[in-house]
Amino acid sequence: CGIIGIVSGSPVADRLVDGLRRMEYRGYDSAGVCTIHDGDLVRRRAEGKLANLVEELNRRPAPGAIGIAHTRWATHGAPNEKNAHPHATEHLAVVHNGIIENYKELRAELRGEGRTLESDTDTEVVAHLLSREVENGASPQDAVKTVLPRLRGAFALAIAFRAHPDMLIGARLGSPLVVGYGEDETFLGSDALALAPLTQQISYLEEGDWVVIRREGAQVYDHENNPVERAITTSGASA
Ligand code: GLU
Repeated sequence: CGIIGIVSGSPVADRLVDGLRRMEYRGYDSAGVCTIHDGDLVRRRAEGKLANLVEELNRRPAPGAIGIAHTRWATHGAPNEKNAHPHATEHLAVVHNGIIENYKELRAELRGEGRTLESDTDTEVVAHLLSREVENGASPQDAVKTVLPRLRGAFALAIAFRAHPDMLIGARLGSPLVVGYGEDETFLGSDALALAPLTQQISYLEEGDWVVIRREGAQVYDHENNPVERAITTSGASA
């Protein structure tokens, strides 16, 4: 339902939660964050209100200067902690807005290869499909290029790769995603409002676009994987 991602040089967990708070108006039933710290994915999730996630983060902090976060409005799978995003494998973590319509056949394919899915969501297949590519030696970019064409339905995605603590990848088809440009830090958000306290410099991804964000900026690709420029606008959203 709500997505935010930050690549920065300073801790991100508090700012990720702030971003989620700004998207609470959309409604949600659970929430989670995943940062990368010291070569590990650090994932924290909680059912219910953001206050529950904040409590969990107080008990078990999520350090790190890069991360993704999500508020979930369940479409597939009960609203509980196990189904809360981010969904992760050993290699990466994914947050997703929308619906992967062909998730049943993708689940069957992944299970057929002996993979264990831990949730009842449509989203988790995306994590495993990407992970399979990474395990076979693909770069994050190549993994995304291979997996996106296999997904039917509507999605906005943000992905963090454990071995790449300097970048996040976003993608959109049928569900909005924006890139925000800051001072030596870069953001992903499902709307400009979520990023309002962080930056007013926004570009809107177009249908089928995907993007690699790093501290120094972003590179957008279209649905044919051609590098493209998307105009940066100054958003009117006020903090
Ligand atoms: N379909 C996904 C799920 O049920 C994402 C829902 C959302 O957009 O929050 O987990």
